[in-house]
Amino acid sequence: MTYLKYLIGRVRFHLTNYFKPLIAHTEGIFIDEIWEQIKKKALKKDILKWYVMTPINYEYFKVFFNTKYSKKELAKIMKKRYKWLLERNQRLELHVHFNKIMNISYENQEEMIKNAKDWMMKELGVKPKEFISGWWVYNKDTIEILRKNNLKLIKENKYKAIHDYNLIR
Ligand SMILES: [Zn+2]
Repeated sequence: MTYLKYLIGRVRFHLTNYFKPLIAHTEGIFIDEIWEQIKKKALKKDILKWYVMTPINYEYFKVFFNTKYSKKELAKIMKKRYKWLLERNQRLELHVHFNKIMNISYENQEEMIKNAKDWMMKELGVKPKEFISGWWVYNKDTIEILRKNNLKLIKENKYKAIHDYNLIR
């Protein structure tokens, strides 16, 4: 009986997860191979919202994607590609990576969030309303800073999520 309950629980979990809308964490958009896959997804209207990273996370792009682009070059490519998505009625929200264990001061965290939001507004003409934290890691400072900036924190269980870089694997 307990096992049956367990099974029903698992089935229910997978079914609710299956029907959740799909969102993407957009991190490797500046890599041409990934960009080709992003365009396909966008044209098929598979993705409800794109939670996009901005050039303020330049160090992250260097470490995780070994990019040879300068920050300026990267910003230019990202802007062009995000604009392409916007022209096709895709919805963009904000995604910022801090550290894996939130080893960051309130001030630095606030600066990153503010600069990322400002970049979206200035370069893309988009005012983000929602925010996803990198690796789903955040602390009480994050919550306070997001509140001050009118950004809603989206948690892990809300949507089904994919990473753009997994589209080429
Ligand atoms: Zn991420």
